Amino acid sequence: MPTFVHTDKCDGCKGGEVTACMYICPNNLMKLDTDRMKAFNQEPEQCWECQCCVKACPQQAIEVRSFQDWVPMGGAAIPMRTDTAIMWTIKFRDGGVDRYKFPVRTTPVGSIDPYGNKPEPGDITAQNLFTETGDLPVIS
Ligand code: SF4
Ligand code: SF4
Repeated sequence: MPTFVHTDKCDGCKGGEVTACMYICPNNLMKLDTDRMKAFNQEPEQCWECQCCVKACPQQAIEVRSFQDWVPMGGAAIPMRTDTAIMWTIKFRDGGVDRYKFPVRTTPVGSIDPYGNKPEPGDITAQNLFTETGDLPVIS
């Protein structure tokens, strides 16, 4: 089930050329209507509910209409992401609301050195994987 935008909350990322939802969608589905400065999902049937746009939207303007086996009709499951945690707000059909907060990292923000302790890249024309050393075995 695809995303939809609460147009009363969307501010078009304040006129930025590429909005947060356009930037983050791995499928290039989100588009900005520049006349109204409101975003929308231009190909809803292609949305795979990854929730990236929902988490990235600074206005919490995007929601996913989730499948019934996960969120029964009338309910909602809404993620809110910060640098260190994710909070899920679960709205039940009877009006009840629960919130669950989980940490999303164990190290301080910005402390990761992705290339630390890795060897320098070798010959990029070789068929070896990055972590493979020596010649590949010849299969005859
Ligand atoms: S990220 Fe949110 S506020 Fe920005 S354009 Fe998309 S829906 Fe609107
Ligand atoms: S849920 Fe994922 S695939 Fe669907 S519009 Fe948002 S970012 Fe794109």
